[in-house]
Amino acid sequence: MTGTAKTHAKGFKPEAKKHLGQHFLHDAGIISMIVHAVDPQPGDRLVEIGPGQGAITFPLLDRHGELTVIEFDRDLIFPLTEGARAHGTLEVIHRDVLTVDFSALAHNGGPIRLVGNLPYNLSSPILFHALDHAGSIRDMHFMLQKEVVDRMAAGPGSKVYGRLSVMLQAYCQVIALFDVPPAAFRPPPKVDSAVVRMIPHPPEKIGIADHALFARVVRDAFGQRRKTLRNALSQICEGASIQAAGLRPDARAEQIEVADFVRLSNWLKANGSIEPEAN
Ligand code: SAM
Repeated sequence: MTGTAKTHAKGFKPEAKKHLGQHFLHDAGIISMIVHAVDPQPGDRLVEIGPGQGAITFPLLDRHGELTVIEFDRDLIFPLTEGARAHGTLEVIHRDVLTVDFSALAHNGGPIRLVGNLPYNLSSPILFHALDHAGSIRDMHFMLQKEVVDRMAAGPGSKVYGRLSVMLQAYCQVIALFDVPPAAFRPPPKVDSAVVRMIPHPPEKIGIADHALFARVVRDAFGQRRKTLRNALSQICEGASIQAAGLRPDARAEQIEVADFVRLSNWLKANGSIEPEAN
C-alpha cells in the first residue's frame, strides 16, 4: 500500500509523530472527565487544537453536535473527517495553530471556547498566542505537562512562581483541574500531565496600560530571579520609581503579586520610563 493509500484507508491509524508532540489519549475515564470539565452548552462555539485521532473530538461532538478543529498533521485530516461523520458536524482547519486568528474564528459566533490536549513542545507559544486573542476567548481547557500547569497556577512565594504564572494570571483566571498519568496516552509521555482551565478576565479587570511594557517588566524581573527588583529592573527604571509605585526595591520578583507588577508597569507608563523593546 502506498503512503497516500494508507493515509486514506478507512480506520487507518497513523503512527504517532514525535516531532508533532503526538501522544494520543486512550483512557475513557480521563476523556470523560475532560468533556465533563468543558461541559458544552447549547450555542457554545467550541474549537479544539490538535484533535489527533479524535479521542476528545468525537465525544465532544456526541455531546455538542458541532465542533471546529485545528490540526497540522495532514495524515490525520482524512481519518478525522471520516470518523466524525457518525458523531456530528466537524469543521477541520488544516493549519499550524500558531497561524490561526482566533479572533476571526470568534467573529461569527461570539467568543470561542478552546479545548486541547496540546503538543507539549508548543505549549508556551500556544498559550501566548491565545493570550493575544484573549478578548475573543470565553475559556480554555488544556492538557499540558503537569510541571507547566504547576507554574501557570503558582502564586508568590512558590518556587515555581515565575514569568509564565504572572503573564497568564494577569490576563486569565488559571485553575488546575486534575492530573493525568503517562499511562493514559499512547505512546506514554515521559512526564505527568494535568488539565487546566483558563478564563480570560474582562478587559476592565486586566487594567494594563501598556502590554509590551508590562511584558518587559515581568521578563526582566524574573530574568534574574535571585536579584532584587532594583537590580533586575535596572535597564528599565530606578529603585526610586519602584518605591514610588508602592513596591519594595529590595524585594525579589518571586515575592511580588500579579497586581503589583501591573501597578509598577502602569506607574512607569504614566511617569515616564525607557521605551520598551519589541518582544
Ligand atoms: N487530541 C488528541 C488526543 O488527545 O489524543 C491528540 C493530542 S496530541 C498530544 C497533539 C496534537 O496536536 C496532535 O494531533 C498533533 O498532530 C497536533 N499538532 C502538533 N503541532 C500542531 C500545530 N502546530 N498546529 C496544530 N496542531 C498541531
